[in-house]
Amino acid sequence: MPVEEITLTAKFKVDLVDVDEAMISEIYRLFEEYRWIVNELIEYAHSHGITSPRRLWYAKYHELRQKYPTIPSHYIHTACRLTSSIYRCFLHKKRLRMCEGERPIFKGRTIWLDDKLFKLDSENWKASIILHGRRWIALRLFHGRYHDKFRDMELGEARLVLREDGDLYLNVAFSRTVTLPEMSADARVIAVDVNENFIVYGNNDFVERFETNEGIIRTRYFLKRRRIRSKIRGRELQRRLLEKYRGREWRRIREIYYKAAKRIISRALEIGATIIVIEDLKHLNEEDMGSKELNGRLHRWSYRRFQRILEYQAKLYGLSVRYVDPAYTSSICPICGDELNPSQNGHRLMRCLRCGLEEDRDVIAVRNLTRRYCEECMKAKASHRPLFDV
Ligand SMILES: [Zn+2]
Repeated sequence: MPVEEITLTAKFKVDLVDVDEAMISEIYRLFEEYRWIVNELIEYAHSHGITSPRRLWYAKYHELRQKYPTIPSHYIHTACRLTSSIYRCFLHKKRLRMCEGERPIFKGRTIWLDDKLFKLDSENWKASIILHGRRWIALRLFHGRYHDKFRDMELGEARLVLREDGDLYLNVAFSRTVTLPEMSADARVIAVDVNENFIVYGNNDFVERFETNEGIIRTRYFLKRRRIRSKIRGRELQRRLLEKYRGREWRRIREIYYKAAKRIISRALEIGATIIVIEDLKHLNEEDMGSKELNGRLHRWSYRRFQRILEYQAKLYGLSVRYVDPAYTSSICPICGDELNPSQNGHRLMRCLRCGLEEDRDVIAVRNLTRRYCEECMKAKASHRPLFDV
């Protein structure tokens, strides 16, 4: 059975009510020193063209140690790693011309904690963090039922985040190894077909629809952005507003994606399906998508994001996601394979002249995806090669 490791981040707000003033200012001092260290490292990385955290560490560790003698040494380790990832990300964006400025500036709202810098008591949800002079501070974390699922997962690294409003968060990475079900033609499946405003899922026994209204939401935000571009004069203000609305749009859509994924997965669990079948858009090229307009590309881009969310969530519940070639899934008959024609009885209905099938387009797409999965299973079995490379 294929085995895979999945990682999830748990966010905790830190309860600062019972923490005394002196300790809080110690934490602020830590943030400030960490910021200095990272910015110094960025400067060095930039002027020497270094992207490797190890090389940064060799070059700067002793100097930083002397300059900041009371900070525990592992903060310098993680600062090197953080710097490296910030700098790499910057270079990548620079190549794509997605950012301005000579070099990145670290605003200092994040501290990267490895296993030497923090401990977590997941029974009581308390964290201990090491401060200057190797003193530990215990912090209570706000938690809810959402956090329970992390209790039996493996603890990874964490990030301490200081929000602009002064709230302190601890974002902890957890991982779990999952065993995913084997692919086989007799496994129960749910096929998923993503459209602009709804997601259809089901198999030969049932088909359901989840309204996302994504296209409508996107159009609304598109118009909003256009208004900002034409009405707002200041360049900086314009940029900030555009960013704000872009963020808001994506958060809204992401929430809908999560809901859709949840619905599909719970339905799969209900009917005992172990495989989720979804279109593999890699098979398609521009012309197939009919994406002369921007819309097609946008749709594809967000479709990938939905895929990622669905795949991730599915794995958490021990379900496998399989991609199949989507060519012609909406234009051939799922029963006899003949070409379909639009029916006279309604614009979403399709009709097969050979076997007389008359069905809604969505139902046809879902049935075809289900069928295609089975065909690929059979083919793989016949040729004795392992099914899909995992
Ligand atoms: Zn037919």
